Amino acid sequence: MQILKFFPDTPQIDNIIAKGVRHLNEGELLAIPTETVYGLAGDATNGTAIARIFAVKLRPKFNPLIAHVSSIEMACEYGEFDEISLELARHFWPGPLTLVVDCRQDSKIHELVSAGLDTIAIRCPGGMARQLIKTFGKPLAAPSANRSGKVSATSASHVTSEFEGENILVLDGGPCSVGIESTIAKVSDSKITLLRSGSITLKQLADFTGLPVEMAAHESAIQAPGMMTSHYAPRSNVLINCTQATDDAAVLTFGLQQITGNVVAQNIRNLSPAGDLLEAASNLYKLMRELDDLGKDTICVAPVPMEGLGIAINDRLTRASAPRSEV
Ligand code: AMP
Ligand code: MG
Repeated sequence: MQILKFFPDTPQIDNIIAKGVRHLNEGELLAIPTETVYGLAGDATNGTAIARIFAVKLRPKFNPLIAHVSSIEMACEYGEFDEISLELARHFWPGPLTLVVDCRQDSKIHELVSAGLDTIAIRCPGGMARQLIKTFGKPLAAPSANRSGKVSATSASHVTSEFEGENILVLDGGPCSVGIESTIAKVSDSKITLLRSGSITLKQLADFTGLPVEMAAHESAIQAPGMMTSHYAPRSNVLINCTQATDDAAVLTFGLQQITGNVVAQNIRNLSPAGDLLEAASNLYKLMRELDDLGKDTICVAPVPMEGLGIAINDRLTRASAPRSEV
Protein backbone atom coordinates (compact mmCIF):
# COMPACT_ATOMS: atom_id res chain seq x y z
CA MET A 1 0.00 0.00 0.00
CA GLN A 2 1.32 3.41 -0.95
CA ILE A 3 -0.24 6.71 0.08
CA LEU A 4 0.12 9.94 -1.88
CA LYS A 5 -1.25 13.00 -0.20
CA PHE A 6 -2.28 15.95 -2.34
CA PHE A 7 -4.19 19.20 -2.21
CA PRO A 8 -6.76 19.92 -4.90
CA ASP A 9 -5.89 22.44 -7.60
CA THR A 10 -2.15 22.49 -6.98
CA PRO A 11 0.44 21.80 -9.71
CA GLN A 12 1.49 18.54 -8.00
CA ILE A 13 -1.88 17.06 -8.99
CA ASP A 14 -0.63 16.32 -12.51
CA ASN A 15 2.16 14.11 -11.15
CA ILE A 16 -0.25 12.31 -8.84
CA ILE A 17 -2.65 11.70 -11.71
CA ALA A 18 0.15 10.47 -13.98
CA LYS A 19 1.19 7.99 -11.31
CA GLY A 20 -2.41 6.87 -10.80
CA VAL A 21 -2.87 6.33 -14.53
CA ARG A 22 0.31 4.21 -14.70
CA HIS A 23 -1.03 2.08 -11.87
CA LEU A 24 -4.41 1.65 -13.60
CA ASN A 25 -2.73 0.74 -16.89
CA GLU A 26 -0.96 -2.07 -15.06
CA GLY A 27 -4.34 -3.44 -13.95
CA GLU A 28 -3.75 -2.32 -10.36
CA LEU A 29 -6.21 -0.62 -8.01
CA LEU A 30 -6.31 2.90 -6.63
CA ALA A 31 -8.23 4.34 -3.72
CA ILE A 32 -9.52 7.73 -4.82
CA PRO A 33 -11.53 10.44 -3.14
CA THR A 34 -14.85 11.37 -4.75
CA GLU A 35 -17.44 13.76 -3.40
CA THR A 36 -19.42 10.79 -2.02
CA VAL A 37 -16.97 8.32 -0.46
CA TYR A 38 -13.50 6.95 -1.26
CA GLY A 39 -13.71 4.54 -4.19
CA LEU A 40 -11.64 1.42 -4.78
CA ALA A 41 -11.01 2.08 -8.44
CA GLY A 42 -9.94 -0.14 -11.31
CA ASP A 43 -10.04 -0.01 -15.11
CA ALA A 44 -13.67 -0.85 -15.95
CA THR A 45 -12.61 -2.48 -19.22
CA ASN A 46 -10.11 -4.85 -17.57
CA GLY A 47 -11.72 -8.03 -16.21
CA THR A 48 -8.78 -8.95 -14.01
CA ALA A 49 -8.71 -5.51 -12.41
CA ILE A 50 -12.45 -5.76 -11.70
CA ALA A 51 -12.08 -9.28 -10.29
CA ARG A 52 -9.34 -7.86 -8.07
CA ILE A 53 -11.83 -5.28 -6.68
CA PHE A 54 -14.18 -8.08 -5.61
CA ALA A 55 -11.28 -10.08 -4.17
CA VAL A 56 -9.85 -7.16 -2.18
CA LYS A 57 -13.27 -6.12 -0.85
CA LEU A 58 -14.00 -9.76 0.05
CA ARG A 59 -17.39 -9.40 -1.64
CA PRO A 60 -19.22 -12.71 -1.53
CA LYS A 61 -21.35 -11.79 -4.56
CA PHE A 62 -20.83 -10.16 -7.92
CA ASN A 63 -23.20 -7.26 -7.43
CA PRO A 64 -22.96 -4.69 -10.21
CA LEU A 65 -20.59 -1.74 -9.84
CA ILE A 66 -20.84 1.86 -10.96
CA ALA A 67 -18.80 2.93 -13.99
CA HIS A 68 -17.34 6.37 -13.32
CA VAL A 69 -16.80 8.63 -16.32
CA SER A 70 -15.34 12.10 -16.87
CA SER A 71 -17.99 13.46 -19.24
CA ILE A 72 -21.37 12.88 -20.83
CA GLU A 73 -19.54 12.08 -24.07
CA MET A 74 -17.64 9.29 -22.35
CA ALA A 75 -20.86 8.05 -20.72
CA CYS A 76 -22.52 7.85 -24.13
CA GLU A 77 -19.76 5.57 -25.41
CA TYR A 78 -20.93 2.91 -22.97
CA GLY A 79 -24.60 3.57 -22.20
CA GLU A 80 -27.71 4.33 -24.28
CA PHE A 81 -28.96 7.61 -22.82
CA ASP A 82 -32.59 8.53 -23.38
CA GLU A 83 -33.43 12.25 -23.48
CA ILE A 84 -34.45 12.46 -19.80
CA SER A 85 -31.34 10.65 -18.54
CA LEU A 86 -29.31 13.02 -20.67
CA GLU A 87 -31.06 16.04 -19.15
CA LEU A 88 -30.40 14.68 -15.67
CA ALA A 89 -26.73 14.13 -16.50
CA ARG A 90 -26.41 17.64 -17.90
CA HIS A 91 -27.93 19.12 -14.78
CA PHE A 92 -26.50 17.00 -11.97
CA TRP A 93 -23.07 15.99 -13.31
CA PRO A 94 -20.42 16.16 -12.14
CA GLY A 95 -22.06 15.12 -8.90
CA PRO A 96 -23.52 12.38 -6.73
CA LEU A 97 -26.15 11.07 -9.18
CA THR A 98 -25.78 7.62 -10.77
CA LEU A 99 -27.95 6.84 -13.78
CA VAL A 100 -28.83 3.29 -14.79
CA VAL A 101 -29.19 3.03 -18.57
CA ASP A 102 -29.07 0.25 -21.17
CA CYS A 103 -25.58 -0.95 -22.04
CA ARG A 104 -24.49 -0.15 -25.55
CA GLN A 105 -23.98 -3.28 -27.63
CA ASP A 106 -20.44 -2.19 -28.43
CA SER A 107 -19.62 -1.17 -24.84
CA LYS A 108 -16.08 -2.11 -23.84
CA ILE A 109 -16.93 -2.16 -20.13
CA HIS A 110 -16.23 -5.61 -18.75
CA GLU A 111 -19.27 -7.80 -17.96
CA LEU A 112 -18.17 -8.19 -14.37
CA VAL A 113 -18.85 -4.46 -13.83
CA SER A 114 -22.52 -4.81 -14.78
CA ALA A 115 -22.61 -8.36 -13.36
CA GLY A 116 -23.79 -9.56 -16.76
CA LEU A 117 -26.85 -7.28 -16.77
CA ASP A 118 -27.89 -5.49 -19.94
CA THR A 119 -28.00 -2.21 -18.03
CA ILE A 120 -25.10 -0.21 -16.63
CA ALA A 121 -24.89 2.27 -13.75
CA ILE A 122 -22.89 5.37 -14.75
CA ARG A 123 -21.84 8.46 -12.84
CA CYS A 124 -19.54 11.41 -13.42
CA PRO A 125 -17.80 12.46 -10.19
CA GLY A 126 -16.27 15.90 -9.72
CA GLY A 127 -12.84 17.01 -8.56
CA MET A 128 -9.66 15.07 -8.96
CA ALA A 129 -11.47 11.79 -9.68
CA ARG A 130 -12.86 13.37 -12.83
CA GLN A 131 -9.44 14.70 -13.87
CA LEU A 132 -7.95 11.26 -13.33
CA ILE A 133 -10.61 9.54 -15.45
CA LYS A 134 -10.23 12.14 -18.18
CA THR A 135 -6.49 11.53 -18.33
CA PHE A 136 -6.94 7.76 -18.15
CA GLY A 137 -9.43 7.99 -21.02
CA LYS A 138 -11.60 5.07 -19.86
CA PRO A 139 -14.23 4.57 -17.16
CA LEU A 140 -13.29 3.38 -13.69
CA ALA A 141 -15.35 0.94 -11.66
CA ALA A 142 -15.16 2.18 -8.11
CA PRO A 143 -17.25 0.74 -5.27
CA SER A 144 -16.64 2.14 -1.82
CA ALA A 145 -13.13 1.51 -0.54
CA ASN A 146 -14.00 -0.72 2.39
CA ARG A 147 -14.24 -4.46 2.99
CA SER A 148 -17.64 -5.92 2.23
CA GLY A 149 -20.17 -5.24 4.96
CA LYS A 150 -18.09 -2.51 6.60
CA VAL A 151 -18.96 1.17 6.56
CA SER A 152 -17.83 3.23 3.61
CA ALA A 153 -14.51 5.03 3.81
CA THR A 154 -14.75 8.80 3.77
CA SER A 155 -11.08 9.56 4.47
CA ALA A 156 -7.78 8.06 3.40
CA SER A 157 -7.06 6.75 6.88
CA HIS A 158 -10.27 4.69 6.76
CA VAL A 159 -9.00 3.16 3.53
CA THR A 160 -5.56 2.34 4.85
CA SER A 161 -6.89 0.69 7.98
CA GLU A 162 -9.32 -1.42 5.91
CA PHE A 163 -6.83 -2.64 3.35
CA GLU A 164 -3.56 -3.01 5.20
CA GLY A 165 -1.11 -5.15 3.25
CA GLU A 166 -2.95 -4.88 -0.09
CA ASN A 167 -1.30 -3.51 -3.21
CA ILE A 168 -3.35 -0.34 -3.49
CA LEU A 169 -2.20 3.18 -4.30
CA VAL A 170 -4.17 5.52 -2.04
CA LEU A 171 -4.60 9.06 -3.32
CA ASP A 172 -5.27 11.08 -0.20
CA GLY A 173 -7.21 14.25 -1.01
CA GLY A 174 -8.65 14.74 2.46
CA PRO A 175 -12.17 13.91 3.65
CA CYS A 176 -15.06 13.50 1.17
CA SER A 177 -17.47 16.42 1.05
CA VAL A 178 -20.78 14.53 0.79
CA GLY A 179 -19.84 11.45 2.76
CA ILE A 180 -22.70 9.19 1.62
CA GLU A 181 -23.11 7.12 -1.53
CA SER A 182 -24.59 8.54 -4.73
CA THR A 183 -28.29 8.57 -5.48
CA ILE A 184 -29.08 5.87 -8.07
CA ALA A 185 -31.93 6.54 -10.52
CA LYS A 186 -33.33 4.80 -13.57
CA VAL A 187 -35.61 6.43 -16.11
CA SER A 188 -38.22 4.27 -17.79
CA ASP A 189 -41.62 4.93 -19.40
CA SER A 190 -41.52 8.61 -18.42
CA LYS A 191 -41.04 7.92 -14.78
CA ILE A 192 -38.02 7.73 -12.55
CA THR A 193 -37.29 4.90 -10.16
CA LEU A 194 -34.97 5.55 -7.28
CA LEU A 195 -32.80 2.46 -6.73
CA ARG A 196 -30.83 4.00 -3.89
CA SER A 197 -31.37 7.26 -2.04
CA GLY A 198 -28.46 9.61 -1.60
CA SER A 199 -27.72 13.28 -1.27
CA ILE A 200 -29.67 14.21 -4.40
CA THR A 201 -33.23 13.79 -3.23
CA LEU A 202 -36.36 12.32 -4.79
CA LYS A 203 -37.86 15.81 -4.67
CA GLN A 204 -34.93 17.37 -6.54
CA LEU A 205 -35.32 14.80 -9.32
CA ALA A 206 -39.08 15.31 -9.46
CA ASP A 207 -38.81 19.12 -9.45
CA PHE A 208 -36.18 19.13 -12.16
CA THR A 209 -37.87 16.70 -14.55
CA GLY A 210 -41.53 17.24 -13.66
CA LEU A 211 -41.86 13.42 -13.74
CA PRO A 212 -43.14 11.04 -11.08
CA VAL A 213 -40.30 9.60 -9.00
CA GLU A 214 -40.79 6.51 -6.88
CA MET A 215 -38.61 4.35 -4.66
CA ALA A 216 -37.95 0.91 -6.14
CA ALA A 217 -40.50 -1.47 -4.64
CA HIS A 218 -38.04 -4.29 -4.20
CA GLU A 219 -34.67 -2.69 -4.06
CA SER A 220 -32.91 -5.98 -3.51
CA ALA A 221 -34.79 -7.68 -6.35
CA ILE A 222 -33.65 -5.03 -8.78
CA GLN A 223 -30.08 -5.10 -7.69
CA ALA A 224 -29.44 -8.73 -7.01
CA PRO A 225 -27.72 -10.47 -9.91
CA GLY A 226 -29.49 -13.63 -10.94
CA MET A 227 -32.91 -12.24 -10.20
CA MET A 228 -33.15 -10.15 -13.28
CA THR A 229 -33.75 -10.55 -17.02
CA SER A 230 -33.44 -13.70 -19.10
CA HIS A 231 -29.98 -12.39 -19.95
CA TYR A 232 -29.09 -13.62 -16.56
CA ALA A 233 -30.48 -17.08 -16.51
CA PRO A 234 -28.90 -19.35 -19.12
CA ARG A 235 -31.40 -21.16 -21.34
CA SER A 236 -29.56 -24.42 -20.77
CA ASN A 237 -29.95 -26.19 -17.44
CA VAL A 238 -26.91 -25.67 -15.29
CA LEU A 239 -25.54 -28.43 -13.07
CA ILE A 240 -22.82 -27.43 -10.63
CA ASN A 241 -20.08 -29.43 -8.88
CA CYS A 242 -20.11 -31.99 -11.68
CA THR A 243 -17.52 -34.68 -12.07
CA GLN A 244 -19.15 -36.32 -15.08
CA ALA A 245 -21.17 -35.14 -18.04
CA THR A 246 -23.40 -36.70 -20.67
CA ASP A 247 -21.91 -36.74 -24.18
CA ASP A 248 -24.16 -33.98 -25.45
CA ALA A 249 -23.60 -31.54 -22.59
CA ALA A 250 -21.61 -28.33 -22.62
CA VAL A 251 -18.90 -28.25 -19.98
CA LEU A 252 -17.32 -25.50 -17.89
CA THR A 253 -14.20 -26.54 -16.07
CA PHE A 254 -11.69 -24.86 -13.79
CA GLY A 255 -7.96 -25.51 -13.51
CA LEU A 256 -6.87 -29.04 -14.24
CA GLN A 257 -10.16 -30.63 -13.32
CA GLN A 258 -11.46 -33.20 -15.77
CA ILE A 259 -15.11 -34.03 -16.17
CA THR A 260 -15.59 -37.59 -17.37
CA GLY A 261 -17.71 -38.25 -20.46
CA ASN A 262 -17.26 -37.97 -24.22
CA VAL A 263 -17.83 -34.25 -24.57
CA VAL A 264 -16.34 -32.83 -27.77
CA ALA A 265 -13.62 -30.23 -27.29
CA GLN A 266 -15.58 -27.37 -28.85
CA ASN A 267 -18.25 -27.74 -26.16
CA ILE A 268 -15.76 -27.30 -23.32
CA ARG A 269 -14.50 -24.06 -21.81
CA ASN A 270 -12.10 -23.53 -18.93
CA LEU A 271 -12.61 -20.62 -16.50
CA SER A 272 -8.89 -20.59 -15.82
CA PRO A 273 -6.58 -23.39 -16.99
CA ALA A 274 -4.04 -22.15 -14.42
CA GLY A 275 -6.60 -22.42 -11.60
CA ASP A 276 -6.48 -18.67 -10.95
CA LEU A 277 -9.69 -17.40 -9.36
CA LEU A 278 -9.11 -13.81 -10.58
CA GLU A 279 -8.93 -15.05 -14.15
CA ALA A 280 -11.92 -17.34 -13.56
CA ALA A 281 -14.05 -14.46 -12.28
CA SER A 282 -13.17 -12.28 -15.25
CA ASN A 283 -14.09 -15.10 -17.68
CA LEU A 284 -17.27 -16.25 -15.95
CA TYR A 285 -19.98 -14.29 -17.77
CA LYS A 286 -18.35 -14.51 -21.17
CA LEU A 287 -17.89 -18.29 -21.00
CA MET A 288 -21.35 -18.95 -19.56
CA ARG A 289 -22.82 -17.03 -22.47
CA GLU A 290 -20.66 -18.86 -25.00
CA LEU A 291 -21.71 -22.23 -23.63
CA ASP A 292 -25.35 -21.19 -23.45
CA ASP A 293 -25.18 -20.14 -27.11
CA LEU A 294 -24.24 -23.72 -28.03
CA GLY A 295 -27.89 -24.53 -27.32
CA LYS A 296 -27.23 -27.72 -25.33
CA ASP A 297 -29.77 -29.02 -22.82
CA THR A 298 -27.26 -28.92 -20.01
CA ILE A 299 -24.15 -27.07 -18.96
CA CYS A 300 -22.11 -29.14 -16.51
CA VAL A 301 -19.82 -27.08 -14.30
CA ALA A 302 -16.84 -28.56 -12.48
CA PRO A 303 -16.37 -27.67 -8.81
CA VAL A 304 -14.82 -24.26 -8.15
CA PRO A 305 -13.11 -23.95 -4.76
CA MET A 306 -15.13 -22.12 -2.11
CA GLU A 307 -12.39 -19.70 -1.15
CA GLY A 308 -11.66 -16.05 -1.95
CA LEU A 309 -13.34 -15.07 -5.20
CA GLY A 310 -14.54 -18.66 -5.57
CA ILE A 311 -17.33 -17.77 -3.13
CA ALA A 312 -18.74 -15.12 -5.48
CA ILE A 313 -18.23 -17.39 -8.50
CA ASN A 314 -20.12 -20.20 -6.75
CA ASP A 315 -22.88 -17.77 -5.74
CA ARG A 316 -23.38 -16.84 -9.39
CA LEU A 317 -23.23 -20.47 -10.56
CA THR A 318 -25.69 -21.56 -7.88
CA ARG A 319 -28.15 -18.90 -9.03
CA ALA A 320 -27.71 -20.00 -12.63
CA SER A 321 -28.45 -23.58 -11.60
CA ALA A 322 -31.58 -22.78 -9.56
CA PRO A 323 -34.93 -23.85 -11.02
CA ARG A 324 -36.12 -21.06 -13.33
CA SER A 325 -39.00 -20.00 -11.09
CA GLU A 326 -36.46 -19.11 -8.43
CA VAL A 327 -34.06 -17.25 -10.69
P1 AMP B 1 -21.33 0.78 -4.91
O1 AMP B 1 -20.50 0.81 -6.17
O2 AMP B 1 -20.75 -0.12 -3.86
O3 AMP B 1 -21.70 2.14 -4.44
O4 AMP B 1 -22.68 0.06 -5.29
C1 AMP B 1 -23.22 0.21 -6.55
C2 AMP B 1 -24.71 0.18 -6.44
O5 AMP B 1 -25.27 0.34 -7.74
C3 AMP B 1 -25.25 -1.12 -5.90
O6 AMP B 1 -26.31 -0.86 -5.02
C4 AMP B 1 -25.72 -1.81 -7.16
O7 AMP B 1 -26.68 -2.78 -6.93
C5 AMP B 1 -26.22 -0.65 -8.00
N1 AMP B 1 -26.20 -0.93 -9.43
C6 AMP B 1 -25.12 -0.99 -10.20
N2 AMP B 1 -25.44 -1.32 -11.47
C7 AMP B 1 -26.77 -1.46 -11.50
C8 AMP B 1 -27.70 -1.79 -12.51
N3 AMP B 1 -27.31 -2.05 -13.75
N4 AMP B 1 -29.01 -1.86 -12.18
C9 AMP B 1 -29.40 -1.60 -10.90
N5 AMP B 1 -28.57 -1.28 -9.90
C10 AMP B 1 -27.27 -1.22 -10.18
MG1 MG C 1 -20.26 0.25 -0.36
